[in-house]
Amino acid sequence: MPNPQFTKPWHGVPREQIYWNPSVMDEACIGCGTCVTGCSRLVYRFDFERKKPVVVDPLNCMVGCTTCANTCPAHALVFPPIESVLALEGLTEVRHAVEDDLQARHSLLAASAQVPHPDRIITLVVHSIDRLAGDVLRVELQPVTTGECFCEFAPGQYIELWQPNSSYMSRSYSIASAPKGDGSITLHIRRVEGGRFTQWAFGTMKEGDTLQARGPLGSFTMRSAADMPLLFIAGGTGLAPVLALLAQQVNFAPQRDMVLLWGMRQVSDFYALDTLQALAARTPGLRIVLVAQKLENPPALAQAIHFVSGTVIDALVLDVNLSGGRDIYAAGPPVMLRELAHVLDRQGVLPSRVHLDSFGV
Ligand SMILES: Cc1cc2nc3c(=O)[nH]c(=O)nc-3n(C[C@H](O)[C@H](O)[C@H](O)COP(=O)(O)OP(=O)(O)OC[C@H]3O[C@@H](n4cnc5c(N)ncnc54)[C@H](O)[C@@H]3O)c2cc1C
Ligand code: SF4
Ligand code: SF4
Repeated sequence: MPNPQFTKPWHGVPREQIYWNPSVMDEACIGCGTCVTGCSRLVYRFDFERKKPVVVDPLNCMVGCTTCANTCPAHALVFPPIESVLALEGLTEVRHAVEDDLQARHSLLAASAQVPHPDRIITLVVHSIDRLAGDVLRVELQPVTTGECFCEFAPGQYIELWQPNSSYMSRSYSIASAPKGDGSITLHIRRVEGGRFTQWAFGTMKEGDTLQARGPLGSFTMRSAADMPLLFIAGGTGLAPVLALLAQQVNFAPQRDMVLLWGMRQVSDFYALDTLQALAARTPGLRIVLVAQKLENPPALAQAIHFVSGTVIDALVLDVNLSGGRDIYAAGPPVMLRELAHVLDRQGVLPSRVHLDSFGV
């Protein structure tokens, strides 16, 4: 019998709508019974005649759990691809249900011991807000107290921001600028439909507002030898950390052989083209390829910048020669990064050459 304790909705999604349970490959199973006795949710019973496990209550299986498959000595248990669960985690309702559940059970779930961490929380003031193309805000934040800043961050890192007067948890935003003497930082914030933080940022945030910020965080930072050619790949607002890394190179190694592939859905989504043109003008070794899935009426830009149609993966395969060796820095949505990792693997690029910054689950 399905047990109501185990079959209740998973972060708001009815359990019956989620395909997640083991299947037994009878031909591989040696009938040891480990899965049957090891599952506390009574998903299995044991067929003593055939000496095989039987999945009788698949809905009792905990979404995402694979304990029985991991402990099966014959590798005789299979599950649906985890991507189906990850796709659910990408849904706004699921994300919000998790956040609301954490808040509601705060007293039960809060860790009692403080884990020491090197980052710190400071207060930043919104100095300027520009609405860019593609539903993106360019926000400049400055320290409220002189000297209290993320002045020492490494380009490519991100910070976490708390929406003022809200119980929601912080959201992460990459710093899109290189460190500056006054401690100011620039962010690119893209509107997310139904998103809690971005709805506030686009609808309510104004110059002069103060926000709590934690950081700097993340390890998407430059690790390449000074003479190593570089390939930067950005999807959407994945441009932000890439811009910070590029700005660092403009300051320290403008002659370096560098290619930037930046992908968007359509030409009108590209923003900050003024910044890219200025970078290209100061960096003779930089070539920029803007990749649009719908390539209509691309504007004329500096010679080092050109448009192509397709995805950044198409452009990578067609337009970039990796055989001579190039370190790769890619930032953007997880789906793009997963596909990119497969393509680079097929091309024989060593994982140590590849640095990824994922903007989500
Ligand atoms: C390291 C890092 C750097 C980032 N840098 C930027 C940046 O420079 N610019 C930018 O616009 N965004 C960036 N993001 C994404 C950003 O943190 C928020 O997730 C996004 O702005 C949505 O927030 P929201 O409160 O409006 O949406 P929410 O109310 O949180 O949710 C709305 C949607 O966003 C998705 N989502 C929310 N949180 C996450 C999460 N943690 N992982 C995956 N998906 C999630 C949900 O699936 C949902 O579909 C970054 C994320 C990470 C992890
Ligand atoms: S995955 Fe976990 S919950 Fe599901 S049947 Fe196996 S042990 Fe039980
Ligand atoms: S643990 Fe593996 S081999 Fe053992 S009964 Fe279960 S499926 Fe068969």
